Amino acid sequence: MTTLAPLDVLCAANKDFLCRPIGMLIDGAMVAAQSGKTFAVFDPGSGREIAQVAEGDAADIDLAVKAARRAFQDKTWSGMKAHARERLMHRLADLIEAHADELAELESLDQGKPVAMARHLDVAGSVDYLRYMAGWPSKLEGSTIPVSVPYMPNRFFAYTMREAVGVIGCIVPWNFPLMMAVWKVAPALATGCTVVLKPAEQTPLTALRFGQLVMEAGFPAGVVNVVPGFGGTAGAALAAHPDVDKVTFTGSTEVGRHIVHAATGNLKKVTLELGGKSPVVICEDADLDIAIGGAAMAIFFNQGQVCTAGSRLLVHKSMFDKVIEGVSAIASSFKLGHGLDPETQLGPLVSKEQIDRVSGYVKCGLADGARATAGGQVVDRAGYFMQPTVLVDTSPGMKVVQEEIFGPVVVAMPFSHMDEVAAIANNTEFGLGASIWTRDLNKMHALAPAIKAGTVWVNCHSIVDPAMPFGGFKQSGWGREHGKAGIELYTETKSVCLML
Ligand code: ADP
Repeated sequence: MTTLAPLDVLCAANKDFLCRPIGMLIDGAMVAAQSGKTFAVFDPGSGREIAQVAEGDAADIDLAVKAARRAFQDKTWSGMKAHARERLMHRLADLIEAHADELAELESLDQGKPVAMARHLDVAGSVDYLRYMAGWPSKLEGSTIPVSVPYMPNRFFAYTMREAVGVIGCIVPWNFPLMMAVWKVAPALATGCTVVLKPAEQTPLTALRFGQLVMEAGFPAGVVNVVPGFGGTAGAALAAHPDVDKVTFTGSTEVGRHIVHAATGNLKKVTLELGGKSPVVICEDADLDIAIGGAAMAIFFNQGQVCTAGSRLLVHKSMFDKVIEGVSAIASSFKLGHGLDPETQLGPLVSKEQIDRVSGYVKCGLADGARATAGGQVVDRAGYFMQPTVLVDTSPGMKVVQEEIFGPVVVAMPFSHMDEVAAIANNTEFGLGASIWTRDLNKMHALAPAIKAGTVWVNCHSIVDPAMPFGGFKQSGWGREHGKAGIELYTETKSVCLML
C-alpha cells in the first residue's frame, strides 16, 4: 500500500517538505505544473510512496526557458560584477552546508544510499564543488594574440574574451542527484549562464530543495529554474527547445543519443557524460592488501550505480583465485539495509525498474555460462535490494561483459601477459575510466597511455575532484566536466581584432 506519510524518523524540516505536493521552481517561485499533474516519488528502501511532485512537461519547460532567457538577456546575472557572483555562489554553498543533515536525509530517503555517505560525499561534495566553481568568475580571462595578417601593410591588435554561452539545459541522473545537479549548475553560474535543471524522475527531491536554497541565497529570479518530470516529456522538450543554447547531460549512452538528435534543431552545444564499463587491472606485482579492497569498492560503492564503476575485473592469472576469493568475501560481508539505518553499508537499488534490469543481466550471464562466486540474487524483502555479485567464467562476447549493468555486479577475467591487457581493457564501446593496480612505475606508464579512457587511476578508483577534468572517450561522452576544461565549455570564445 502506498502512503504519503513520511517516515517517523525524518527531521521536522523534511516532514514538512514532503507532506504536501512539491512544486517546481520557475522564475523565482515554486509553482504547480501547468497541467496540474503530479507524480509519485518512492523510497527505494521500502518501496513506499514518500512524496508527490509537480510533473513538468513541454509547457512548463517552455516557461522555465523563457524565464532563464529573460534573466540572461537582462544581464542581472551575467552582467553582475564577478566578485558579486562569487559571493552569491558562496552564500548558496553556506546554505547547503547549514542544511547538510537535512539534505543528506532527503537524499538517502529518495535515492537509497546510506545517509552517512549522502552527508559526507554527496552533500559535502556539492558544497566543495560550488566553492571551487565560485572561484572562477573573476578568472575568466582571454588572451592577447600576436596576429600578422598576411598581405596587408597595416598593424593589428587582437585579443580574446570568454562570454557566457547563454541558457543551459541541465539533465541529470538519479545516482548522485544533488551532486550531479551541482556539477552542472555551478559552472553555468560561474560563467554567467542561466539554467533550467531537470532532475531524474526517480530522485527529484534534493534538486527541488536546492532550488529553494538558491532563492533563499538571493539569486535573481529566473537564473536557476528546476523542472521535475519524465525523460520522454520534460527531458526531451528541454533537449529540443530552440531557445536553449547548450544542453549538458549525464545518463545512459542510449539517452545521450536521443539528446544529440534533439539538439540538431538549433544546433545547440552538447556536453555528454555517459555510460561506462571501466576495467580494474590488477597486475602481478600489485599490493593485494589494497588492490582487493580497492576492486571491491570500485564496483560496490553506491550499489554499483556509478558511471565509472569498476565493472570489469582483469587480474593476472597468478593471483586470480586469491583476488576473486577476497572480493567475493567482501561482497558477501556487506550489511544491506535501508539508507536511513546507521548500520547500513549498502542500500537498495534506486527503483523497481533498476532491480529488474540488474537481476535480468545476472540471469543472462549465468545462462551464458558465467558462475557467481558471490551474490547473484535479488534479496527477498521490501524495497529493491540486490546482493553484491561477482561473476567468473566469463568470456568477452557475453552481454554481461559488454554492456553497462549499472548495479553491484562485477565480471572477472584472468590475463596472462601485460602486452594483452590494453586490448582486453579497450574491448568495449565505452571509455570513461580505468584503474591500474601495480607497484611498478614502468608498467603503469606503459599501460596508462594505452588505455582509451577519460581518467586512468593508479592504485585507486573513481577519485574525482572539482579541479580534475572528467569525461569519456568513445561512446562514454563528449567534452569534459570540472576544472578549466569544464568551465570553458560554458563559454564562447570571442576574438576581437582592431586595425591600428
Ligand atoms: P539511467 O539509464 O541512468 O536511468 P537515463 O539516461 O535514462 O538514466 O536518464 C538520465 C536523465 O535523462 C533523467 O533525468 C531522465 O529523465 C532523462 N531522460 C530520459 N530520457 C530522455 C530523453 N529522451 N530526452 C531527454 N532526457 C531524457
